[in-house]
Amino acid sequence: MSKPLLIMKFGGTSVGTPEAIERAAHLVAEQATESYVAVIVSAMAQVTNLLYATLEAGVKGDSETLNHTIKLLWQNHSKTCTALLPKSRHLEVLHCMEDIFADFERIANGMLLLREQPLRSVDEAVPTGERLSALLLSEALQEVGKKSIVVSGGEVIVTDSSFGDAKPFIEQTREKAENRLLPVMQDGTIPIITGFNASTEDGVATTLGRGGSDYSASIIAAALKADEIWIWTDVDGILSCDPGIAPDARLLAEVTYNEAAELAYNGAKVLHPRTLAPLAEMEIPVRIKNSFNPLKPGTRISSYPTGHPGPQAITSLAGVSLISIEAAGASMSGAQLIARALEAAARTNVEVLLLTRSSFRHNFCMLIRTADVGTVMSRLREELAIELAHGYLRPIAIDNSVGLLAVVGESMRGTPGLAGQLFTAISRQNVNIIAIAQGSSELTIAIVVSESDLRKAVCAIHSECQMGQAGESMTARANS
Ligand code: ADP
Ligand code: ASP
Ligand code: MG
Repeated sequence: MSKPLLIMKFGGTSVGTPEAIERAAHLVAEQATESYVAVIVSAMAQVTNLLYATLEAGVKGDSETLNHTIKLLWQNHSKTCTALLPKSRHLEVLHCMEDIFADFERIANGMLLLREQPLRSVDEAVPTGERLSALLLSEALQEVGKKSIVVSGGEVIVTDSSFGDAKPFIEQTREKAENRLLPVMQDGTIPIITGFNASTEDGVATTLGRGGSDYSASIIAAALKADEIWIWTDVDGILSCDPGIAPDARLLAEVTYNEAAELAYNGAKVLHPRTLAPLAEMEIPVRIKNSFNPLKPGTRISSYPTGHPGPQAITSLAGVSLISIEAAGASMSGAQLIARALEAAARTNVEVLLLTRSSFRHNFCMLIRTADVGTVMSRLREELAIELAHGYLRPIAIDNSVGLLAVVGESMRGTPGLAGQLFTAISRQNVNIIAIAQGSSELTIAIVVSESDLRKAVCAIHSECQMGQAGESMTARANS
């Protein structure tokens, strides 16, 4: 290709209103003079939640809610269409939107009739929001003089059939994406690709998990060997903490792929956890930018640590559970016990977020999402049935009232006293530490506390380690 290839992804709030869609169209058009641009788009803010709620109402037989939410969604999108586009385009675009709604209603009414929610039908229905926003953004681009077409994520991303959380096959995706997208871009047309959805090799609809359009963008960037990817969202970039928890959170100008991935896996909602892996492998630079404040430079993600001393950021994750397994005596091998329990958990495909072990008592804990407890527990009980029945193991304990916080930074490595500083900050708030984990890479220190203490503990560490804006000005003074 004769020009660099830029992938741009717009999140829900960045296409959440007619004004936001118009702004997004201008941002794309601006870059399209210098680069080939492929765009990935989320559904308008809150739309996916409403689509899931509609299907849920269908399964429960609640036709009133089902019809009401569909009506709300139609009103919202048709109003956006008429506010965004000139009158001459209304009839045709509203007609396309009616077709998209008709597909969704067919599936939702099927669920109402059968009182069943087959996972593959859910995955066919929920990207409706992306189909609608892609249509609107594509139309808006044409209004600013750029040729544009809508491409479904299902036409370019090939996955396995784990509905709701599908995993991509990169080679097949590369072939499809190159065939579908390169000729379009070379012809001067900007493809607007629906994020979140994909399909199996046989063409069955899948989705990449909630918040998955970041992942769609990174899969496509890797498949097309893009030169850069920009993720447009509603904050200035990756911040030192969730701004809803620490209002003085500082913008991180640069972070590494490892740091960004750790933050995302440990709860920083700004990126889908799997986004970074395909990009890091190919060293494709990432920028996180604010579509409401596009002149700000945002956060750049690359391989190079900034050298900013100490922790960069702190994140937290609620809705998690700690599962503790303990041998009743010394007759069981601790290593074997851990191996078998982890093997059982691995077979469920559930993510184990943290592991700790106190060697003497053969007790070990693993942290998983509360939504996964049922699946993991039935596998564990199956695997360890004999030991549990004969009393070699104590009953497996589950604590659903915990939360995870994670302090992240490449430059924490080899900093003596850091763990002590974190524990002191937490204990000053009278918060008890339930479990701790730090790998030898020293990239992340993860701490489990009671869920009700999570916010307090996060704020205490954020301020103790001067991660916020006040800390930034102190670092600047010290360096000057
Ligand atoms: P989008 O719809 O653009 O994908 P999301 O809502 O998924 O946006 O993610 C952006 C939000 O992530 C921000 O509005 C912010 O509230 C939240 N967030 C949580 N932790 C962080 C963090 N460390 N840095 C930046 N944003 C964060
Ligand atoms: N619209 C999808 C969701 O809300 C995907 C995304 O926004 O990234 O989960
Ligand atoms: Mg998101």
